[in-house]
Amino acid sequence: MIAAPALPWWQDLTPRQIARLAEEDGVAVLPLAAIEQHGEHLPLSTDLDIALGLLHAALPKLRPGLPVCVLPPLAVGLSLEHCAFAGTLSLSPETALASLVELGDSVARAGFRRLVLFNSHGGNKALVDLAALKLRVAHRMLVVRANYFRFAPPPDALPAAELRHGLHGGALETAMMLHLAPHKVRTEVIADFASIGRDMAAHGSVLGPEGEAGFGWMAQDLNPGGATGDARLGDAVLGARLVDHFAGVLARVIEDARDFALAGLVPAEDRAAPPG
Ligand SMILES: [Zn+2]
Repeated sequence: MIAAPALPWWQDLTPRQIARLAEEDGVAVLPLAAIEQHGEHLPLSTDLDIALGLLHAALPKLRPGLPVCVLPPLAVGLSLEHCAFAGTLSLSPETALASLVELGDSVARAGFRRLVLFNSHGGNKALVDLAALKLRVAHRMLVVRANYFRFAPPPDALPAAELRHGLHGGALETAMMLHLAPHKVRTEVIADFASIGRDMAAHGSVLGPEGEAGFGWMAQDLNPGGATGDARLGDAVLGARLVDHFAGVLARVIEDARDFALAGLVPAEDRAAPPG
């Protein structure tokens, strides 16, 4: 495990300190993850470890003095696609969305107007989209949808096919885990976990699990072992590079969230002006 400074946790503060941070127009960051199977080579905590590892690496990259705090992570998310594997914990979509929105409501109630939803689990994408919209309608608050796996990766870090088809427990996640928490990786069972998506693309299909046209899938539909991607391509050196890169993007997201002009957020009750 790499040595990391403590995060500026929301829950370490007192009501008065929270109020002061809100007055300083601080940014609240909510980490969203999953506790779900990642094959036999990675632990159930993979997405949580990556989310917190990226946050630890991102905060020292922020410009000095930027007011920020990190909410307690929503460790369990929407993981129905992994429910066939023992150990996966999942909320229902309705419960997960309600939890996310109610946490956002609490942040708004504390006076914060800048919230970054920082998500490390693909299955939470739709939740992040819906929660950000619902919170924006309810509050005049900037709600950022930041999914690290949507950040452009460093050029030439991995082959395009692996980035496209290595959706789960492949090279990307394995590499970052070998850097962040090598003691949790069972290197002896690392392998190339072929995805049905790779075969479909090879046969010229536009349709794929996450292709131009996608379909609802469960992990075992893509690979019977539950992982997809060539995990052999991941090592700790690549992991360090990926963590540093994604953390740099995350730091910029937080800075941009702080700099965003809130005046542009029109109150939901105001009618949009008709053109002309
Ligand atoms: Zn994952």
